[in-house]
Amino acid sequence: MSDLILFWHRRDLRICDNTGLAAARLRSPKVVGVFCLDPQILERDDVAPVRVTYLIGCLQALQQRYAEAGSQLLILHDNPVVTIPALAKALNAKAVFWNWDVEPYAQERDRTVLDALKENGIEFLEQNWDQILHSPDEIRTGGNSPYTVYTPFWKNWSSKPKAQPAATLQNAEELTADEQEIAQQAGVKPLPTAKDLGFVWDGGLVIAPGETAAQARLEEFCAHSINEYQEQRNFPAVEGTSQLSAALKFGAIGIRTVWKATLEALENSRSDEATAGIRTWQQELAWREFYQHAMYNFPELADGAYRDTFKNFPWENNLEKFQAWCDGNTGYPIVDAAMRQMNESGWMHNRCRMIVASFLTKDLLINPQLGEKYFMQRLIDGDLSANNGGWQWSASSGMDPKPLRIFNPASQAQKFDAEGEYIRQWIPELRSLDTEYLVTGKIPPLERHALGYPQPIVDHKLQQQEFKNLYQQQKAYSSPL
Ligand SMILES: Cc1cc2nc3c(=O)[nH]c(=O)nc-3n(C[C@H](O)[C@H](O)[C@H](O)COP(=O)(O)OP(=O)(O)OC[C@H]3O[C@@H](n4cnc5c(N)ncnc54)[C@H](O)[C@@H]3O)c2cc1C
Repeated sequence: MSDLILFWHRRDLRICDNTGLAAARLRSPKVVGVFCLDPQILERDDVAPVRVTYLIGCLQALQQRYAEAGSQLLILHDNPVVTIPALAKALNAKAVFWNWDVEPYAQERDRTVLDALKENGIEFLEQNWDQILHSPDEIRTGGNSPYTVYTPFWKNWSSKPKAQPAATLQNAEELTADEQEIAQQAGVKPLPTAKDLGFVWDGGLVIAPGETAAQARLEEFCAHSINEYQEQRNFPAVEGTSQLSAALKFGAIGIRTVWKATLEALENSRSDEATAGIRTWQQELAWREFYQHAMYNFPELADGAYRDTFKNFPWENNLEKFQAWCDGNTGYPIVDAAMRQMNESGWMHNRCRMIVASFLTKDLLINPQLGEKYFMQRLIDGDLSANNGGWQWSASSGMDPKPLRIFNPASQAQKFDAEGEYIRQWIPELRSLDTEYLVTGKIPPLERHALGYPQPIVDHKLQQQEFKNLYQQQKAYSSPL
């Protein structure tokens, strides 16, 4: 058996602060990376072209980083359950290392690969966590159960010491010419473009792909915006958030590096406002981890509502209304601006994600799973755990105990887009209107008609009452006598 270790990248597309890759380099100088374009993922009906474009860009950048470190990144394009063990066997690798994932599909896939490696006497790294600061087994209640409520999770999670960023890949060795040929026979191919894979995205990316760009974004955010984050994060017209979500989803940046940057920011903080901003941002990172732990501990979340009352909820699921919501044509300016932002840029501000999710479920009475899927079809950062968590929170179907949380689009716009800047940016046909009309949504019907902007497809007041009625009925059915 050779000294070669294959490192299988999945959502850790970087060479710095990658715990599994650092462990591999510690064991051997000959570490070669591999990424598998998995048809079972790429052929799903919830894949966003913008996300694939970002992914391919990250892989290009990663190939470059491997070359700089002396090694290379190999690309496979077939079922990893077959191709990863086959490549390891063909190259006579002594081990395959990778970082563990929380998602149900990934867990099953990894166990199958693990069994195949075992059968072939190839080593592997047992459950190595990289994408989260604490493993799901580390953060448990006093009774040793997983948390289902965020606040006590945060208290426990934030009190625990966090690991430092892992070492980077250095002085690694690439495959010999003979091995390169063997790798090609075992299915290694050049990296395709997103278009080659059938995904066309011309809308630009909110963050450039790759670890250098992610690191630069983190530094810029910590230098200019983190101190005002608590105040600014709620205004969609302001660039007050990091827009690091895609980099965190694909691991273009390590979470230990991000955490370390927050600690340095706290050390340099010169005001209560700055400290509050940094702490609030840390809490968002903890939400990300809370939802990942939830997905790991309760994989059934991926299939629908967590709360019994919402398991057979009589959603109306009117498909015309759903289409109007998808297209940003509901006649509610703040909702439409947000949907158009996502359709055109592949990203949506968090405040607006909450507004449109509340509107779909509590105004249009549409099953949140439809919205969840549409988000996955459009978002650069589309991520099962965060997206599912956000939708279950907004629909009140998740672990959160507030069933009647309903957002009023007009009050949200009045509070968070008071000058109508965001609405004007994304709905050009409304640009000339008075701000009052934009934020209250009370645009006269004739004016709407003249501007080619739709009439409201529902009445918020009536719909929220309808939702409450349905909820009370359903609660009575689902509660034990
Ligand atoms: C209905 C709905 C769907 C969502 N879908 C996704 C999704 O598919 N992918 C995704 O990454 N986030 C999702 N979020 C969470 C949040 O909206 C985005 O993470 C955030 O808007 C990304 O922008 P940012 O990087 O500027 O965040 P920042 O405000 O800078 O926050 C820093 C990081 O913390 C994490 N984070 C922040 N807020 C949350 C949150 N509420 N839940 C989980 N993680 C959070 C993200 O990784 C984010 O990049 C969703 C929220 C809602 C309400």
